[in-house]
Amino acid sequence: MPSPRRVRAFPELESVLISETAIRRRVRRLGREIMAAYGDEPITVIAIINGAILFTADLLREIDNPVRLDCIRISSYRNATKSSGRPRVVQALTLDIKDRHVLLLDDILDTGRTLSLVSQLILKKRPASLRVCVLLDKKGRREVPFDADYVGFSIPNKFVVGYGLDFAERYRNLPCIGVLKPERQVLG
Ligand code: 5GP
Ligand code: MG
Repeated sequence: MPSPRRVRAFPELESVLISETAIRRRVRRLGREIMAAYGDEPITVIAIINGAILFTADLLREIDNPVRLDCIRISSYRNATKSSGRPRVVQALTLDIKDRHVLLLDDILDTGRTLSLVSQLILKKRPASLRVCVLLDKKGRREVPFDADYVGFSIPNKFVVGYGLDFAERYRNLPCIGVLKPERQVLG
């Protein structure tokens, strides 16, 4: 017998900013927009891990094009809610992307430093094209100019967790996106 649907509360969150349903709907529409832009072309997707893992997994299933997937690991946060301001590559790409149509995915565009660094790195490898898609955009926080081609949601300047986004490696598995209670924003 199927078990009754689990109704989940999120006691660690002060507020839910984007619900699981809203994420699912938006990701589906992003998939359609992306397919319309690429036509029948094969796409090489590059996900910035770990943050973009859940978004990538869901978005890829909304795209029918032939897809290759590669991941790049960047570190900038030092287990806190403030970026160190200096993203660096800690795990490089493995696929050849020369003459490929590259779609770069990240969970959130904040200061712009991470995506600016990764975009430059990709462009040096001479792809056929580069487009950038982020689930979240904190527009007011930019320190270097950067615009994504596709944005899931614009959000206010608040530190968010869930759906891949962490605080000290926790909360990535929340199905929604929300703001942590202040008492949870302590390390240890
Ligand atoms: P940027 O380089 O644009 O400042 O930051 C991009 C990275 O910082 C994202 O990939 C993400 O890992 C992290 N980040 C920025 N804002 C937030 C946030 O509100 N919550 C979490 N968990 N990570 C964030
Ligand atoms: Mg990240």
